[in-house]
Amino acid sequence: MSSAPLRLRLDTDALVANWRLLAAMSGAAACGAAVKANGYGVGSPEVVQRLANAGCRDFFVATWAEAAPLADPSRSISVLHGVRENDNPLGLPGVRPVLNTPAQVQRWKPTGAPCDVMVDTGMNRLGVSPDEVGAGLLDGLNIETLMSHLSSADEDGPINTRQCAAFRQLQGQTSARRMSLANSAGIALGADYAFDLTRPGIALYGGQQHAQHHGIRQVVRPEAQVLQRRTLRAGQGLGYNLTFTAPADMEVAILNLGYADGYLRCFSNKGWGISGGNRLPLLGRVSMDLIALDVSAAPDLAEGDWIEIAYALPEMAAISGLSQYEMLTGLGARFDRIWS
Ligand SMILES: *Cc1c(COP(=O)(O)O)cnc(C)c1O
Repeated sequence: MSSAPLRLRLDTDALVANWRLLAAMSGAAACGAAVKANGYGVGSPEVVQRLANAGCRDFFVATWAEAAPLADPSRSISVLHGVRENDNPLGLPGVRPVLNTPAQVQRWKPTGAPCDVMVDTGMNRLGVSPDEVGAGLLDGLNIETLMSHLSSADEDGPINTRQCAAFRQLQGQTSARRMSLANSAGIALGADYAFDLTRPGIALYGGQQHAQHHGIRQVVRPEAQVLQRRTLRAGQGLGYNLTFTAPADMEVAILNLGYADGYLRCFSNKGWGISGGNRLPLLGRVSMDLIALDVSAAPDLAEGDWIEIAYALPEMAAISGLSQYEMLTGLGARFDRIWS
């Protein structure tokens, strides 16, 4: 099979350095890794292997289908959406559910197997209530980790303190061997939030959700190949609906990347490529499979050359209006994913 005309450059050193930084920020707590949605679009088997080599032991996925290819007795994998009637959860080494509802608790109890439990401390998304815990719902379960999730860890304010206090109230009330509250942004809120285990996701992959994340490095760099180089004459328009008009004669490269690859139309007339230290502005609309860059600053770029597309998550999310999470999880299947 021939190689794809677009690729994701994935930086092992940056991924591992980000995990080490988050582990250091987690203090005495163990630091895990959220690898749901195929490792935030990056590739979960590759992420898990690299982080496991660095010493990470606890991984989080959404579903059993996501857990299956990652299962290994040397790791612990928690399935965040718990166990449904038709799931077939036993027999995957090191994999256990995060129970979220009384029905899930009743379904799991007879197995006697280890599990995690999610408690809702105010997000009103998944989880059993503190009152249900107080009423003995979890008695008789073999709980490895008791968890809760912060709704607003990327903002300052009283909500975080309230959730943290509500979670701390549960300490000693269950058989849980560990407690876990903080995602990436939660880790940045300080030692009170670390408990025994932290669960970063986005920051592993280069996301910055808090000022304390300034040392986080970029992991993902899309690159696309030039299909055609052309001259655009002053006054000519470019792309669908000709939303860009050349103010003067200029040089343009057409690249093999578009919204079908997750490079969405909100980058139209806003994104840019990077070549030889030059910024090459994106011209006109992003098409399904193509974009156009102004390559006037790069006279030597020719058909077949590769150009990096600016994709630093904090900066490009601010420019496009996408979330850093959407920027990663939307990256499509047509990229060759190439790890350094
Ligand atoms: C996705 C997720 C995380 C990781 O969150 P980030 O914001 O990506 O760090 C942690 N815990 C739970 C329950 C999650 O669903």
